[in-house]
Amino acid sequence: MKPIIKTINSPCAHCSKPFDHEVLFRVDGEDYPDLKQRVLNYTAFTSPCPACHGQSNVPQDFKYFDSAAGVRYVVYYFPKGSEAQLEDTIAGVACLRDSGTRTHYVHMISDILQTIKLYEAGTPPPENDFPVSEAAMVRSKALSSEADDSMKRVMEAMRHQQETGQFPPGFIENIKRGRAIMDAEKQQADAPKKPSLFKRLFGG
Ligand SMILES: [Zn+2]
Repeated sequence: MKPIIKTINSPCAHCSKPFDHEVLFRVDGEDYPDLKQRVLNYTAFTSPCPACHGQSNVPQDFKYFDSAAGVRYVVYYFPKGSEAQLEDTIAGVACLRDSGTRTHYVHMISDILQTIKLYEAGTPPPENDFPVSEAAMVRSKALSSEADDSMKRVMEAMRHQQETGQFPPGFIENIKRGRAIMDAEKQQADAPKKPSLFKRLFGG
């Protein structure tokens, strides 16, 4: 799977002059060993300032995959306060867990390295629950006001999963159906913006 790298204009941490940072959002370590090395030595998370040459970081959600040696896992990094992709991430994790892929969330860049090492050593960290705080829900709703009811249903499904070890009947099927719809829509160039996937699946 191709990595996702975006350019984000942000001030330098040292001289405060804004410049274009290359920010890594997603990488499959098996497919891109060079980028994997940059994740492991943290250089994937900083950019050099053209004015003062200091290294600067733009904290962004990051997802590390590794499908090597039959071990499938995903490490999610969420900087504090950055849960903008909450809805999509919960849906994605529901599908991943259903298919046997292990997932782990971290909040510190240094923990990405530690978590990858644990997986590679064959001593995977325990599954940890998505950090769904009330504050995150409020933020998510503010970002997507139409998601109110559908968001609640996804949250309920996650709580159900945490309590019983299983998602409610039909939940995974709904997510998979939604993904298929989204994939089909992505192929239509210039498609008009539609209501969110979750609104269509769960009402709202
Ligand atoms: Zn600078």
